[in-house]
Amino acid sequence: MRFPLALTTKIAAYIVGHKLRGTQKFATVLQLEPLHTCNLTCTGCGRIREYSTNLKDLLPLDDCLAAAEECKAPMVSICGGEPLIYPQIEALVQGLLDQKRIVYICTNAMFMRKKMREWMAAQYPKRPTFIEQKITALSDAGLMTEKDAAAIQQGPKDAAKPTIGPSKWLYWNVHLDGLERTHDLIVEREGVFRECILAIKMAKILGYQIATNTTVYKETDMDEVEQMLDFLSDLGVDGHTITPGYEYDAAKKDMIKRLNLQPEDFFLTRDLTVKKFSRMEQWMNRYTFFGTPVYFEFLAGKRDLTCSAWAIPTRNIRGWKAPCYFMTDSVGTNGTGHFNTYAELLEHVDWSKYGVVNGVARDPRCENCMTHCGYEPTASLGLNAQKGDTWKTIKFNFASRPRPTGKGNEVAVYNGVTSGNGHLTGKKAEPAAKAS
Ligand code: SF4
Ligand code: SF4
Repeated sequence: MRFPLALTTKIAAYIVGHKLRGTQKFATVLQLEPLHTCNLTCTGCGRIREYSTNLKDLLPLDDCLAAAEECKAPMVSICGGEPLIYPQIEALVQGLLDQKRIVYICTNAMFMRKKMREWMAAQYPKRPTFIEQKITALSDAGLMTEKDAAAIQQGPKDAAKPTIGPSKWLYWNVHLDGLERTHDLIVEREGVFRECILAIKMAKILGYQIATNTTVYKETDMDEVEQMLDFLSDLGVDGHTITPGYEYDAAKKDMIKRLNLQPEDFFLTRDLTVKKFSRMEQWMNRYTFFGTPVYFEFLAGKRDLTCSAWAIPTRNIRGWKAPCYFMTDSVGTNGTGHFNTYAELLEHVDWSKYGVVNGVARDPRCENCMTHCGYEPTASLGLNAQKGDTWKTIKFNFASRPRPTGKGNEVAVYNGVTSGNGHLTGKKAEPAAKAS
Protein backbone atom coordinates (compact mmCIF):
# COMPACT_ATOMS: atom_id res chain seq x y z
CA MET A 1 0.00 0.00 0.00
CA ARG A 2 1.04 3.56 -0.67
CA PHE A 3 0.39 4.60 2.93
CA PRO A 4 0.44 2.05 5.81
CA LEU A 5 -2.93 0.34 6.33
CA ALA A 6 -3.33 1.42 9.96
CA LEU A 7 -2.81 5.07 9.02
CA THR A 8 -5.13 4.92 6.00
CA THR A 9 -7.81 3.26 8.11
CA LYS A 10 -7.51 5.84 10.85
CA ILE A 11 -7.90 8.76 8.46
CA ALA A 12 -10.73 7.11 6.52
CA ALA A 13 -12.65 6.31 9.74
CA TYR A 14 -12.24 9.90 10.93
CA ILE A 15 -13.57 11.38 7.67
CA VAL A 16 -16.45 8.91 7.38
CA GLY A 17 -17.39 9.60 11.02
CA HIS A 18 -17.67 13.33 10.31
CA LYS A 19 -19.60 12.72 7.09
CA LEU A 20 -22.09 10.49 8.90
CA ARG A 21 -22.56 13.11 11.61
CA GLY A 22 -23.03 15.76 8.93
CA THR A 23 -20.15 17.98 10.14
CA GLN A 24 -19.78 20.78 7.63
CA LYS A 25 -16.23 21.84 8.40
CA PHE A 26 -13.53 19.96 10.27
CA ALA A 27 -9.75 19.64 10.33
CA THR A 28 -7.86 16.88 8.55
CA VAL A 29 -4.34 18.13 9.20
CA LEU A 30 -3.15 20.53 11.90
CA GLN A 31 -0.19 22.68 10.91
CA LEU A 32 1.42 23.26 14.27
CA GLU A 33 4.11 25.93 14.48
CA PRO A 34 5.63 25.83 17.95
CA LEU A 35 8.14 28.52 16.94
CA HIS A 36 9.23 30.56 13.94
CA THR A 37 12.95 30.51 14.66
CA CYS A 38 14.97 28.92 11.90
CA ASN A 39 18.62 28.23 11.22
CA LEU A 40 18.10 28.93 7.50
CA THR A 41 16.72 31.83 5.45
CA CYS A 42 15.16 30.14 2.42
CA THR A 43 14.42 32.57 -0.41
CA GLY A 44 10.69 31.85 -0.74
CA CYS A 45 9.89 31.39 2.97
CA GLY A 46 7.09 33.62 4.19
CA ARG A 47 7.20 32.33 7.75
CA ILE A 48 10.47 33.76 8.99
CA ARG A 49 9.50 37.06 7.36
CA GLU A 50 5.84 37.42 8.38
CA TYR A 51 6.71 36.56 11.99
CA SER A 52 10.11 38.26 12.05
CA THR A 53 9.22 40.17 15.23
CA ASN A 54 8.30 36.96 17.05
CA LEU A 55 11.27 34.81 16.15
CA LYS A 56 12.27 34.25 19.77
CA ASP A 57 8.78 33.34 20.97
CA LEU A 58 7.79 29.77 21.72
CA LEU A 59 4.33 28.23 21.88
CA PRO A 60 4.20 26.45 25.26
CA LEU A 61 4.10 22.66 25.08
CA ASP A 62 0.70 22.51 26.81
CA ASP A 63 -0.77 24.91 24.24
CA CYS A 64 0.62 22.80 21.38
CA LEU A 65 -0.98 19.67 22.77
CA ALA A 66 -4.23 21.48 23.59
CA ALA A 67 -4.44 22.72 19.98
CA ALA A 68 -4.21 19.15 18.71
CA GLU A 69 -6.81 18.03 21.25
CA GLU A 70 -9.16 20.81 20.24
CA CYS A 71 -9.11 20.44 16.48
CA LYS A 72 -8.85 16.63 16.57
CA ALA A 73 -7.15 16.36 13.18
CA PRO A 74 -5.75 12.84 12.80
CA MET A 75 -2.54 14.21 11.28
CA VAL A 76 -0.33 16.85 12.84
CA SER A 77 2.42 18.45 10.83
CA ILE A 78 4.93 20.09 13.17
CA CYS A 79 6.48 22.88 11.18
CA GLY A 80 7.72 26.37 11.90
CA GLY A 81 10.45 27.73 11.73
CA GLU A 82 12.63 24.71 12.25
CA PRO A 83 10.83 22.43 14.74
CA LEU A 84 14.00 20.65 15.84
CA ILE A 85 15.09 23.94 17.45
CA TYR A 86 12.00 23.84 19.71
CA PRO A 87 13.42 22.96 23.16
CA GLN A 88 10.63 20.49 23.94
CA ILE A 89 10.30 18.90 20.52
CA GLU A 90 10.78 15.39 21.91
CA ALA A 91 8.03 15.86 24.52
CA LEU A 92 5.79 17.41 21.87
CA VAL A 93 6.22 14.47 19.50
CA GLN A 94 5.65 12.02 22.37
CA GLY A 95 2.54 13.92 23.52
CA LEU A 96 1.05 13.87 20.03
CA LEU A 97 1.80 10.17 19.61
CA ASP A 98 0.13 9.58 23.00
CA GLN A 99 -2.91 11.37 21.56
CA LYS A 100 -2.79 8.81 18.69
CA ARG A 101 -1.98 11.36 16.01
CA ILE A 102 -0.04 10.68 12.84
CA VAL A 103 2.91 13.02 13.25
CA TYR A 104 5.04 14.66 10.56
CA ILE A 105 8.12 16.59 11.61
CA CYS A 106 8.75 19.05 8.77
CA THR A 107 12.44 19.76 8.94
CA ASN A 108 15.33 21.16 6.96
CA ALA A 109 17.26 18.13 8.34
CA MET A 110 20.22 20.05 9.74
CA PHE A 111 19.65 18.65 13.25
CA MET A 112 18.11 15.31 12.33
CA ARG A 113 21.25 13.23 12.70
CA LYS A 114 21.87 14.73 16.15
CA LYS A 115 18.32 13.87 17.26
CA MET A 116 18.69 10.31 15.94
CA ARG A 117 22.01 9.89 17.77
CA GLU A 118 20.28 11.03 20.97
CA TRP A 119 17.67 8.31 20.45
CA MET A 120 20.43 5.74 19.91
CA ALA A 121 22.16 6.84 23.13
CA ALA A 122 18.89 6.56 25.07
CA GLN A 123 18.37 3.05 23.70
CA TYR A 124 21.93 1.89 24.35
CA PRO A 125 21.51 0.80 28.01
CA LYS A 126 18.29 -1.11 27.12
CA ARG A 127 19.45 -2.94 24.00
CA PRO A 128 23.17 -2.54 23.47
CA THR A 129 23.49 -5.35 20.90
CA PHE A 130 20.88 -3.82 18.60
CA ILE A 131 22.40 -0.36 18.84
CA GLU A 132 25.93 -1.76 18.29
CA GLN A 133 24.66 -3.37 15.06
CA LYS A 134 23.26 -0.01 13.97
CA ILE A 135 26.53 1.75 14.86
CA THR A 136 28.39 -0.75 12.67
CA ALA A 137 25.94 -0.30 9.78
CA LEU A 138 26.12 3.49 10.03
CA SER A 139 29.91 3.50 10.31
CA ASP A 140 30.23 1.18 7.30
CA ALA A 141 28.01 3.57 5.33
CA GLY A 142 30.18 6.54 6.31
CA LEU A 143 27.35 8.03 8.35
CA MET A 144 28.92 7.92 11.81
CA THR A 145 32.29 8.96 13.21
CA GLU A 146 34.14 7.10 15.95
CA LYS A 147 33.55 10.09 18.22
CA ASP A 148 29.77 9.93 17.66
CA ALA A 149 29.77 6.16 18.25
CA ALA A 150 31.68 6.59 21.53
CA ALA A 151 29.20 9.24 22.70
CA ILE A 152 26.28 6.90 21.99
CA GLN A 153 27.97 4.07 23.89
CA GLN A 154 28.09 6.26 26.98
CA GLY A 155 24.28 6.28 27.08
CA PRO A 156 21.93 9.26 27.44
CA LYS A 157 23.04 12.50 29.10
CA ASP A 158 19.61 12.72 30.75
CA ALA A 159 17.83 9.37 31.01
CA ALA A 160 14.53 11.09 31.86
CA LYS A 161 14.42 13.18 28.68
CA PRO A 162 12.30 11.69 25.87
CA THR A 163 13.84 11.14 22.44
CA ILE A 164 12.40 10.79 18.95
CA GLY A 165 12.44 7.12 17.95
CA PRO A 166 11.11 5.24 14.92
CA SER A 167 7.34 4.68 14.94
CA LYS A 168 4.81 3.69 12.32
CA TRP A 169 2.86 6.81 13.33
CA LEU A 170 5.78 9.16 12.72
CA TYR A 171 7.46 10.60 9.61
CA TRP A 172 10.44 12.84 9.24
CA ASN A 173 9.33 15.17 6.45
CA VAL A 174 12.47 16.57 4.84
CA HIS A 175 12.37 19.77 2.80
CA LEU A 176 14.07 19.18 -0.57
CA ASP A 177 13.50 21.57 -3.48
CA GLY A 178 15.88 20.02 -6.01
CA LEU A 179 19.33 18.53 -6.44
CA GLU A 180 22.35 19.97 -4.67
CA ARG A 181 22.87 23.21 -6.55
CA THR A 182 19.19 24.16 -6.72
CA HIS A 183 18.40 23.20 -3.15
CA ASP A 184 21.40 25.00 -1.68
CA LEU A 185 20.53 28.12 -3.68
CA ILE A 186 16.94 28.11 -2.46
CA VAL A 187 17.88 27.52 1.18
CA GLU A 188 20.75 30.00 0.78
CA ARG A 189 23.31 27.76 2.50
CA GLU A 190 26.05 25.54 1.15
CA GLY A 191 26.02 21.91 2.30
CA VAL A 192 22.33 21.63 3.21
CA PHE A 193 21.47 19.19 0.42
CA ARG A 194 24.31 16.85 1.42
CA GLU A 195 23.19 16.94 5.04
CA CYS A 196 19.60 16.11 4.00
CA ILE A 197 20.81 13.05 2.11
CA LEU A 198 23.03 11.88 4.98
CA ALA A 199 20.10 12.25 7.39
CA ILE A 200 17.75 10.35 5.08
CA LYS A 201 20.24 7.49 4.71
CA MET A 202 20.78 7.32 8.47
CA ALA A 203 17.04 7.39 9.16
CA LYS A 204 16.41 4.49 6.78
CA ILE A 205 19.12 2.38 8.44
CA LEU A 206 17.55 3.07 11.84
CA GLY A 207 14.02 2.21 10.70
CA TYR A 208 12.38 5.64 10.64
CA GLN A 209 9.79 6.55 8.03
CA ILE A 210 10.82 9.38 5.73
CA ALA A 211 8.80 11.68 3.55
CA THR A 212 10.05 14.61 1.49
CA ASN A 213 8.30 17.85 0.62
CA THR A 214 9.11 19.88 -2.45
CA THR A 215 7.95 23.35 -3.43
CA VAL A 216 7.99 24.19 -7.11
CA TYR A 217 8.94 27.71 -8.19
CA LYS A 218 9.13 29.37 -11.58
CA GLU A 219 12.81 28.50 -11.97
CA THR A 220 12.27 24.86 -10.94
CA ASP A 221 13.37 22.47 -13.65
CA MET A 222 10.83 19.63 -13.62
CA ASP A 223 13.33 17.26 -15.28
CA GLU A 224 15.53 17.85 -12.27
CA VAL A 225 12.61 17.18 -9.89
CA GLU A 226 12.03 13.89 -11.72
CA GLN A 227 15.70 12.99 -11.29
CA MET A 228 15.47 13.86 -7.60
CA LEU A 229 12.41 11.60 -7.23
CA ASP A 230 14.31 8.75 -8.94
CA PHE A 231 17.20 9.27 -6.56
CA LEU A 232 14.95 9.47 -3.47
CA SER A 233 12.91 6.43 -4.42
CA ASP A 234 16.12 4.42 -4.69
CA LEU A 235 17.12 5.66 -1.23
CA GLY A 236 13.93 4.08 0.11
CA VAL A 237 12.08 7.32 0.91
CA ASP A 238 8.55 6.36 1.96
CA GLY A 239 6.60 9.15 0.30
CA HIS A 240 6.61 12.61 -1.21
CA THR A 241 4.47 15.71 -1.21
CA ILE A 242 4.79 18.46 -3.78
CA THR A 243 3.15 21.86 -4.03
CA PRO A 244 3.44 25.04 -6.10
CA GLY A 245 5.12 27.92 -4.27
CA TYR A 246 2.71 30.53 -2.90
CA GLU A 247 3.57 34.20 -3.40
CA TYR A 248 3.66 35.40 0.21
CA ASP A 249 3.58 39.18 0.50
CA ALA A 250 6.33 39.11 3.11
CA ALA A 251 8.58 36.89 0.99
CA LYS A 252 8.00 39.10 -2.05
CA LYS A 253 9.05 42.24 -0.16
CA ASP A 254 12.18 40.54 1.20
CA MET A 255 13.06 39.26 -2.25
CA ILE A 256 13.06 42.74 -3.76
CA LYS A 257 14.90 44.40 -0.88
CA ARG A 258 17.52 41.82 0.04
CA LEU A 259 18.14 39.91 -3.19
CA ASN A 260 17.05 42.36 -5.87
CA LEU A 261 14.91 39.56 -7.32
CA GLN A 262 11.54 40.26 -8.92
CA PRO A 263 8.80 38.11 -7.34
CA GLU A 264 7.17 37.49 -10.74
CA ASP A 265 10.42 35.79 -11.80
CA PHE A 266 10.25 33.45 -8.82
CA PHE A 267 6.64 32.52 -8.03
CA LEU A 268 4.20 30.64 -10.24
CA THR A 269 0.99 31.91 -11.79
CA ARG A 270 -1.90 29.47 -12.21
CA ASP A 271 -1.10 28.93 -15.88
CA LEU A 272 2.53 28.25 -15.12
CA THR A 273 1.59 25.87 -12.29
CA VAL A 274 -0.46 23.78 -14.70
CA LYS A 275 2.42 23.72 -17.17
CA LYS A 276 4.94 22.74 -14.50
CA PHE A 277 2.71 19.95 -13.20
CA SER A 278 1.76 18.52 -16.59
CA ARG A 279 3.56 15.27 -15.73
CA MET A 280 1.85 14.88 -12.39
CA GLU A 281 -0.47 12.09 -13.48
CA GLN A 282 2.50 10.01 -14.67
CA TRP A 283 4.46 10.82 -11.56
CA MET A 284 1.68 9.90 -9.15
CA ASN A 285 1.84 6.34 -10.43
CA ARG A 286 5.61 6.14 -10.77
CA TYR A 287 6.55 7.59 -7.35
CA THR A 288 5.02 7.26 -3.90
CA PHE A 289 3.20 10.57 -3.70
CA PHE A 290 1.02 11.14 -0.67
CA GLY A 291 -2.29 12.76 -1.54
CA THR A 292 -5.20 12.16 -3.83
CA PRO A 293 -5.28 11.64 -7.61
CA VAL A 294 -8.00 14.30 -7.73
CA TYR A 295 -5.63 16.96 -6.37
CA PHE A 296 -2.92 15.86 -8.80
CA GLU A 297 -5.39 16.17 -11.70
CA PHE A 298 -6.17 19.67 -10.45
CA LEU A 299 -2.46 20.57 -10.46
CA ALA A 300 -2.18 19.21 -13.99
CA GLY A 301 -5.06 21.47 -15.08
CA LYS A 302 -7.46 18.59 -15.74
CA ARG A 303 -10.21 19.78 -13.39
CA ASP A 304 -11.22 22.58 -11.07
CA LEU A 305 -11.43 22.56 -7.28
CA THR A 306 -12.53 25.12 -4.72
CA CYS A 307 -10.47 26.02 -1.66
CA SER A 308 -11.14 24.44 1.73
CA ALA A 309 -8.41 26.03 3.81
CA TRP A 310 -10.44 25.45 7.00
CA ALA A 311 -9.49 21.74 6.81
CA ILE A 312 -5.76 22.41 7.26
CA PRO A 313 -5.68 25.05 10.01
CA THR A 314 -2.53 26.60 11.40
CA ARG A 315 -1.88 27.15 15.11
CA ASN A 316 1.15 29.24 16.02
CA ILE A 317 2.53 31.55 18.69
CA ARG A 318 -0.18 34.16 18.01
CA GLY A 319 -3.14 31.78 17.91
CA TRP A 320 -5.17 30.19 15.10
CA LYS A 321 -4.26 31.88 11.84
CA ALA A 322 -7.00 32.92 9.43
CA PRO A 323 -8.01 32.33 6.77
CA CYS A 324 -5.20 29.96 5.84
CA TYR A 325 -1.60 28.87 6.20
CA PHE A 326 -0.52 31.65 3.83
CA MET A 327 -2.68 34.68 4.55
CA THR A 328 -3.40 36.51 7.79
CA ASP A 329 -6.38 38.80 7.58
CA SER A 330 -6.23 39.98 11.18
CA VAL A 331 -9.89 39.13 11.62
CA GLY A 332 -9.11 37.11 14.74
CA THR A 333 -10.41 38.08 18.13
CA ASN A 334 -7.43 37.54 20.43
CA GLY A 335 -5.80 40.94 19.92
CA THR A 336 -3.11 39.73 17.48
CA GLY A 337 -5.42 39.16 14.52
CA HIS A 338 -5.51 35.44 15.25
CA PHE A 339 -8.17 33.38 17.05
CA ASN A 340 -7.97 31.73 20.47
CA THR A 341 -9.67 28.52 19.34
CA TYR A 342 -10.25 26.53 16.18
CA ALA A 343 -13.99 26.67 16.87
CA GLU A 344 -13.85 30.50 16.79
CA LEU A 345 -11.90 30.43 13.55
CA LEU A 346 -14.48 28.18 11.92
CA GLU A 347 -17.32 30.32 13.15
CA HIS A 348 -16.03 33.82 12.43
CA VAL A 349 -14.18 33.58 9.14
CA ASP A 350 -16.28 34.33 6.06
CA TRP A 351 -15.05 31.40 3.99
CA SER A 352 -17.05 32.54 0.96
CA LYS A 353 -14.50 35.34 0.44
CA TYR A 354 -11.59 33.06 -0.48
CA GLY A 355 -10.38 30.73 -3.20
CA VAL A 356 -10.89 30.68 -6.95
CA VAL A 357 -14.27 29.65 -8.35
CA ASN A 358 -14.81 29.04 -12.07
CA GLY A 359 -11.54 30.78 -12.81
CA VAL A 360 -12.43 33.92 -10.82
CA ALA A 361 -10.43 34.76 -7.70
CA ARG A 362 -12.71 35.76 -4.82
CA ASP A 363 -9.68 37.45 -3.26
CA PRO A 364 -6.84 38.72 -5.47
CA ARG A 365 -4.27 37.05 -3.19
CA CYS A 366 -5.85 33.65 -3.99
CA GLU A 367 -5.50 34.13 -7.73
CA ASN A 368 -2.34 32.10 -8.18
CA CYS A 369 -2.77 29.67 -5.30
CA MET A 370 -3.13 25.97 -6.08
CA THR A 371 -1.34 24.76 -2.96
CA HIS A 372 -2.13 21.54 -1.14
CA CYS A 373 -3.08 23.49 2.02
CA GLY A 374 -6.09 24.92 0.23
CA TYR A 375 -7.00 22.30 -2.31
CA GLU A 376 -5.85 18.84 -1.20
CA PRO A 377 -8.59 18.59 1.47
CA THR A 378 -11.20 19.55 -1.11
CA ALA A 379 -10.12 16.47 -3.02
CA SER A 380 -9.73 14.14 -0.05
CA LEU A 381 -13.12 15.14 1.40
CA GLY A 382 -14.84 14.75 -1.97
CA LEU A 383 -16.17 18.31 -1.89
CA ASN A 384 -16.16 18.82 -5.65
CA ALA A 385 -16.64 15.16 -6.43
CA GLN A 386 -17.20 13.83 -9.90
CA LYS A 387 -18.42 10.38 -10.82
CA GLY A 388 -15.74 7.78 -10.19
CA ASP A 389 -13.61 9.89 -7.82
CA THR A 390 -14.16 7.68 -4.78
CA TRP A 391 -13.11 4.51 -6.57
CA LYS A 392 -10.16 6.30 -8.15
CA THR A 393 -8.94 7.46 -4.74
CA ILE A 394 -9.42 4.06 -3.12
CA LYS A 395 -7.55 2.37 -5.96
CA PHE A 396 -4.73 4.90 -5.72
CA ASN A 397 -4.26 4.52 -1.98
CA PHE A 398 -4.76 0.76 -1.74
CA ALA A 399 -2.67 -0.16 -4.78
CA SER A 400 0.84 -1.40 -4.08
CA ARG A 401 3.57 1.12 -3.56
CA PRO A 402 5.45 2.05 -6.72
CA ARG A 403 8.79 0.25 -6.79
CA PRO A 404 12.05 2.19 -6.73
CA THR A 405 12.75 3.20 -10.30
CA GLY A 406 16.37 1.99 -10.19
CA LYS A 407 17.47 5.14 -11.99
CA GLY A 408 18.80 6.93 -8.92
CA ASN A 409 22.42 5.97 -9.53
CA GLU A 410 22.28 7.59 -12.96
CA VAL A 411 21.55 10.97 -11.43
CA ALA A 412 24.27 13.55 -10.89
CA VAL A 413 22.82 14.77 -7.62
CA TYR A 414 25.92 16.55 -6.30
CA ASN A 415 25.97 19.07 -9.08
CA GLY A 416 27.42 22.18 -7.51
CA VAL A 417 26.85 24.38 -4.50
CA THR A 418 26.28 28.00 -3.67
CA SER A 419 29.02 30.15 -2.26
CA GLY A 420 26.88 30.83 0.77
CA ASN A 421 25.74 34.41 0.28
CA GLY A 422 22.30 33.99 -1.11
CA HIS A 423 20.15 33.09 -4.00
CA LEU A 424 22.05 34.87 -6.73
CA THR A 425 25.57 33.99 -5.75
CA GLY A 426 25.83 30.37 -6.81
CA LYS A 427 29.11 29.41 -8.29
CA LYS A 428 29.10 27.38 -11.48
CA ALA A 429 28.27 23.72 -11.25
CA GLU A 430 31.22 21.61 -10.29
CA PRO A 431 32.03 18.55 -12.39
CA ALA A 432 28.96 16.44 -11.81
CA ALA A 433 29.29 13.62 -9.32
CA LYS A 434 26.99 10.63 -9.64
CA ALA A 435 24.74 9.61 -6.78
CA SER A 436 26.31 7.67 -3.95
S1 SF4 B 1 13.82 25.78 6.57
FE1 SF4 B 1 11.59 26.09 6.46
S2 SF4 B 1 11.14 27.61 8.07
FE2 SF4 B 1 13.35 27.64 7.74
S3 SF4 B 1 13.66 29.34 6.30
FE3 SF4 B 1 13.50 27.42 5.11
S4 SF4 B 1 11.31 27.23 4.54
FE4 SF4 B 1 11.47 28.76 6.20
S1 SF4 C 1 -6.84 29.87 -2.24
FE1 SF4 C 1 -4.85 29.63 -1.22
S2 SF4 C 1 -4.35 31.70 -0.46
FE2 SF4 C 1 -6.59 31.64 -0.88
S3 SF4 C 1 -7.54 31.06 1.05
FE3 SF4 C 1 -7.23 29.18 -0.13
S4 SF4 C 1 -5.24 28.42 0.62
FE4 SF4 C 1 -5.36 30.56 1.22
